[in-house]
Amino acid sequence: MFASLKDRVCIVTGSSKGIGRGIARRFGAVGCKVLVVARHVEGAERVAAEIAAAGGTAAAHAGDVTSPESMDAMARAAVERWGGIDILCANAGIFPAAKLAEMTAADFDHVIATNLKGTFLAIKACLPALKARGQGRIVVTSSITGPITGYPGWTHYGASKAGQLGFIRTAAIELAPSRITINAVMPGNIMTEGLDGLGQDYLDKMTASIPLRRLGSVDDIANAALFFATDEAAYITGQTLVIDGGQVLPESMMALDEMGG
Ligand code: NAP
Repeated sequence: MFASLKDRVCIVTGSSKGIGRGIARRFGAVGCKVLVVARHVEGAERVAAEIAAAGGTAAAHAGDVTSPESMDAMARAAVERWGGIDILCANAGIFPAAKLAEMTAADFDHVIATNLKGTFLAIKACLPALKARGQGRIVVTSSITGPITGYPGWTHYGASKAGQLGFIRTAAIELAPSRITINAVMPGNIMTEGLDGLGQDYLDKMTASIPLRRLGSVDDIANAALFFATDEAAYITGQTLVIDGGQVLPESMMALDEMGG
């Protein structure tokens, strides 16, 4: 149904595990050449090897989205290896919890520096190569938390994820003349190593609050990211897609109780 993305060069930040790993594997499965980026290169190497074992093309790269130099080096690595960049999935993110009363300025800065400024730095570094291709795709991993919902402990996280959406709306206008689109996926609760760390009680209660009665899979998010990267999505820019099993819909606990089943 969709035109092939074979041989498109795709960078995925934060792809040594979790949602980024799912995105990298999905893009690898459709024939993209995938640069798997994380701070700890061993994890990135494992994912690159998984993609290669499934018949795809991938390479691992150690990169830190909080560093402009590191992001420039990441973009250079893709261009040197494969001659350009077609797709950037700006996915790397962290979600350490801290209630406002205990949150330090350093806690706040750390989350904003990774999730929001890191998105900017990854995009900025890849822009010259994306422009050189005459068209491009940027897919940002935001969240429902911040843009739509709130959760105690995540004021800084929510601000960073809502900030990404403000960023893409102006970026979409600035990048349109270069035929580069920028859109965001907004995951609900997705089963990842990061989410697993929040504990079984959190996972059980979250599952109970989701109308489709399951946590999301990394493939659920990867499929949406892949759609934004297709040629067929060329006319969509500055937009967001919630992938959450209906989690943001119930207006109260009663709405969930009324579902039965
Ligand atoms: P995860 O399982 O903890 O994986 C995070 C990835 O990001 C790892 O590959 C990690 O590798 C990398 N990373 C962290 N800091 C980095 C940095 N400074 N530079 C480069 N890479 C970095 O997280 P996840 O749950 O998949 O979340 C991924 C994205 O989805 C985040 O943006 C998050 O906000 C968003 N999200 C997740 C959920 C969910 O339910 N899981 C829901 C909504 C949104 P290294 O540690 O080796 O760098």
